Amino acid sequence: MWISSMAYELTEEQRAFARSVRRFAEKHLAQGALKRAHDPAFPFDAARLMGQNGFLGITLPERDGGQGGTPFDAIIAIDEVAQVCPRSADVIQAGNFGPIRTFAEYATEEQKQRFLPGLLAGDMAISLCMSEPEAGSAATELKTQGEFDGEEIVVNGTKVFSTHSPDASVFLVYVRFGPGIRGIGAVLVERDARGLELGSPSSFMNGEQWCQLYFNKCRVSKKNLLLGPGGFKNLISGFNVERLGNSARALALGKFAFKMARQHALIRRQFGRELCEFQGIQWKFADMATKLEAAELLLYRAAHSKDADGLPDGYSTAMAKMACNEAGHFAANESMQVMGATGFSQESLAEYCVRRTRGWMIAGGSIEILKNRIAENVFERRFSQRSGT
Ligand SMILES: Cc1cc2nc3c(=O)[nH]c(=O)nc-3n(C[C@H](O)[C@H](O)[C@H](O)COP(=O)(O)OP(=O)(O)OC[C@H]3O[C@@H](n4cnc5c(N)ncnc54)[C@H](O)[C@@H]3O)c2cc1C
Repeated sequence: MWISSMAYELTEEQRAFARSVRRFAEKHLAQGALKRAHDPAFPFDAARLMGQNGFLGITLPERDGGQGGTPFDAIIAIDEVAQVCPRSADVIQAGNFGPIRTFAEYATEEQKQRFLPGLLAGDMAISLCMSEPEAGSAATELKTQGEFDGEEIVVNGTKVFSTHSPDASVFLVYVRFGPGIRGIGAVLVERDARGLELGSPSSFMNGEQWCQLYFNKCRVSKKNLLLGPGGFKNLISGFNVERLGNSARALALGKFAFKMARQHALIRRQFGRELCEFQGIQWKFADMATKLEAAELLLYRAAHSKDADGLPDGYSTAMAKMACNEAGHFAANESMQVMGATGFSQESLAEYCVRRTRGWMIAGGSIEILKNRIAENVFERRFSQRSGT
């Protein structure tokens, strides 16, 4: 049967890695999977275990304390972990694809020494702060200011929706040093920085929590500068890597729900027959399997793509994210339907997969923004989204 990453030829080494991650997950993460799914806090228990087993920093160079692997290796890890504990796949994301990846790409040696050991050990979380009340999809309209003042940078502004913000020790904050896209860069702000205040946590529909971040004459050392003015292009390249992890989780949770529903359809009897004997149910599985496999191929292609800087290219990544977000959410939702009230119940994890996959259609580049990006390749033109341009 499909559904074990066989749509694409894995090397023997990759298969061995997948088996070792699965063994680890079954041993350490199977128990507590439901509890973790309903706990809004970052699962530091899983993160520490993964740190000890080398699953954080898979994509980071060995000189930085990583494993020197590829994004594809980390995608394999996300899939294998998610098939046992869907929530723990967030830890693989955080340790390989999220702001840690942008950080490791552009940080100074001193910054790496300060933050990477804690992040790679699973003792610390880092949160990406790009979105603002007035700057969502139009990220370049961000207003949070960074101003150089002697040996310090003064940050003023507000950030919203940042994943892991209630638990993070350090924030990677997009700031504006000057006008236009060229004025954008990024600074690292530690949780206890003077002038940083965290609002009370709000909850997304998927159960995740986030805090509004208020920077009020927040002062950090110039040593915390990650990217100065002109850094936006680098930040967005880092974001393409983030999108691979987002796609991988959406796909993995769709697959997880699919497998659960398949098992249910083989056993559950109504009208004197197993559910899988009804054509209406069979067709759901045919649709789910086709969409999931197609999305998986696009994800694998994107993971192997490279732009001029050697990072995953924007077009393949946008297409993979759109396909994985849609297929993952479709499969989770249909699986929940197949499982009836059992799937809709909070004891099944099917409803959790529906909620989680829904959020990724908005986060990290919404489906609509991805379509805009794909259309630019189709027409070989850039289309400004701004009025009057
Ligand atoms: C689960 C989750 C996690 C997140 N994590 C983070 C995080 O860690 N850090 C962070 O900084 N932010 C985070 N975000 C915020 C996320 O980046 C934004 O929600 C996203 O960029 C969209 O911005 P918005 O919500 O303000 O919607 P808006 O930009 O206001 O858009 C509203 C709707 O209009 C559509 N739209 C907007 N512009 C266009 C256009 N040009 N063409 C067609 N349609 C358009 C959008 O697709 C959307 O459907 C997260 C969001 C979610 C849901």
